[in-house]
Amino acid sequence: MHYNVAGLLKESSGYKSMETVDEIFFVEEMDRQADAFGKLVFIRTDKGIWVSGEIVVLIELDCGACLNKFEFQSQINLEEEFIPYIDMRNNSIIHVQKEEGNFRIDSDNLIDLEEAMSQYTFMKIPFSPRCTVQCKGLCVKCGVDLNTNNCDCNTKQIDSRWAPLESLLDSIKE
Ligand SMILES: [Zn+2]
Ligand SMILES: [Zn+2]
Repeated sequence: MHYNVAGLLKESSGYKSMETVDEIFFVEEMDRQADAFGKLVFIRTDKGIWVSGEIVVLIELDCGACLNKFEFQSQINLEEEFIPYIDMRNNSIIHVQKEEGNFRIDSDNLIDLEEAMSQYTFMKIPFSPRCTVQCKGLCVKCGVDLNTNNCDCNTKQIDSRWAPLESLLDSIKE
């Protein structure tokens, strides 16, 4: 996801350009690829380029209950400013304080959105994703996928955090 902003950097503040996104990018934190679709607006600021995007991301995840793979979809609202290394108006080097952050425009006047997209996507991924809201998960006894199979174990689905309490109750009943 590289965008050449050489032209935009020569314009005055407030100048805008638009890009359509239909690309594959790599989500480093998840070690896998994702698809991105949407629109980006690049706005020239006094310091650099503001990137504003509404992007739909599709990424394959493993369901935390039934362990099947499924496609997770999320909407990302990207808002980041990218600062160039060189000021094209006077060829001076632009220094940025560490705390200010973040993203730079590389020396070829390219904005690389991959890192930002990776971070934004990772923040949207639930801790324990589910393939569907109704996912029944796996049988805790025999391990069959209860979404597609029935088993005779007749176990109630209990949250594993309550399992010690359940066995305590069982032992009291005995
Ligand atoms: Zn599932
Ligand atoms: Zn079972």
